[in-house]
Amino acid sequence: DPAQTLRAAAAEVGREAGRIAAASPIYRSLPVGVTDQPPFLNAVAALDTELGPDALLDVLLAVEAAHGRVRDVRWGPRTLDLDLVWFEGVVRDDPRLTLPHPRAHEREFVLRPLCDLAPDLLLHGRTAREWLDSLEPQGVEPAGLSLM
Ligand code: AMP
Repeated sequence: DPAQTLRAAAAEVGREAGRIAAASPIYRSLPVGVTDQPPFLNAVAALDTELGPDALLDVLLAVEAAHGRVRDVRWGPRTLDLDLVWFEGVVRDDPRLTLPHPRAHEREFVLRPLCDLAPDLLLHGRTAREWLDSLEPQGVEPAGLSLM
């Protein structure tokens, strides 16, 4: 049940790292890259945390691992994928953690839910809303489900 996985993951990240301040609705997205697989569910959450970005990434990786994530096929099916899209005041280009996320601004499945929470957030020089408006549609639709 992928919606339940997302809800559980959001609750665990909130508990381990601080407090979930806001959550988007859940969207259903056609797969990118490897296309013969079921659709994904995607959502964005805003987190209040005292952790720095590296410690927060450690929490995300631990929550992924707790849900049995196995990294096999790149862009293939997975139980859970948690990404850090943006962290206040942090811009850096490091393979372990690049911020803002290097591909978030190209992906409707990130930008649609992100715009529900923070349309004015700056990613690589433009707002989330501007990036979303400039994209060709990629097959992302509301799933009619909530994250919290
Ligand atoms: P994937 O789960 O396949 O998207 O790749 C995750 C890997 O990308 C992690 O092991 C991180 O070290 C690295 N990474 C780099 N930047 C980020 C980011 N902004 N959010 C999450 N993971 C990141």
